[in-house]
Amino acid sequence: MIEVKDLVFEYPTARALDGVSFKVEKGAIAALVGPNGAGKTTLLRNIAALEKPFSGTAIVDGLDVRNNPRAVHKKLGFLQDFFGLYDDLSVEQCLTYAAMANGLHGSAVHKAVEETLGWIDLKDHRKKLSKQLSRGMRQRLAVGQAIAHRPSVLLLDEPASGLDPDARRDLSTLLRHLQSTGITLIVSSHILAELEDYSTEMIIMEDGKVKSQRGVSETEGPNAFAIELAEPNGDLGKWLKKQKGITVLQADDNRALVSIEGDASARARLLKDLIGAGFAVTSISETKRSLADTYFDEVSSDKSKGGKP
Ligand code: ATP
Repeated sequence: MIEVKDLVFEYPTARALDGVSFKVEKGAIAALVGPNGAGKTTLLRNIAALEKPFSGTAIVDGLDVRNNPRAVHKKLGFLQDFFGLYDDLSVEQCLTYAAMANGLHGSAVHKAVEETLGWIDLKDHRKKLSKQLSRGMRQRLAVGQAIAHRPSVLLLDEPASGLDPDARRDLSTLLRHLQSTGITLIVSSHILAELEDYSTEMIIMEDGKVKSQRGVSETEGPNAFAIELAEPNGDLGKWLKKQKGITVLQADDNRALVSIEGDASARARLLKDLIGAGFAVTSISETKRSLADTYFDEVSSDKSKGGKP
């Protein structure tokens, strides 16, 4: 479990974290998102006990990072956005080094290395030097190094940047597998569609503050359905507002997003009434708000325009 409370961190020229608070429960995968400069990397570095907060607390599995940085390093794996690998060590040697440097000894090292090689799908490349690996393999090896000492918390800063679609899919599979072993993950990324694949919750940061934290499944509206029209009709929103059991979440001339009380028969009734009232309905379908929709609703429009999130 990770608990951050009123965390403040300042660089000599800027306050990067301005009272950040949130909690991530054991076994969750939290997507950490926000515009460039929001403070995501600084936050991860504070949780990883690589920076000392100015005030506030960050607790990793019951340990206060400020008072127990060394103990936190043993419980936690961190893949930084610009990571380094030892070019002239083999895959196996990189993992052995990472496991031992973070406190594993004896037979536990061999067991952890073998298991990690399987998880990161590099068993067949164990003797290759890290400089001989492809970008995707290097990324998997870097994740392997971060988990070789069997941490209970894993922080990943932009793990998918620069990866091709296949490598990204492999990374998603690996993260889901790690979650299934009980590891708690925070993943900072700008690739919202992918975060949607495996995250259980989303923490949105902006200007050094947490703007919101919500479960990914909560981003679906309750009983939310999209009504699509083949021909525009300016009366759609007005007409829907008058119907019993219907809450209009959003409407324009071509499409409406509504919440419908009741089961499938309520939807069938609504479809019949819409057609009866002369609307050229093509579909009423269940809708899911994407992480991107929620993100752009939350983050100030001037920041979300034109750039990557
Ligand atoms: P990005 O998405 O671009 O990686 P981020 O959300 O990770 O951004 P941070 O890198 O944590 O944001 O930066 C937060 C703020 O702190 C920014 O205003 C940045 O300019 C500032 N900052 C980051 N590192 C330093 C540093 N070493 N010295 C001074 N200011 C810094």
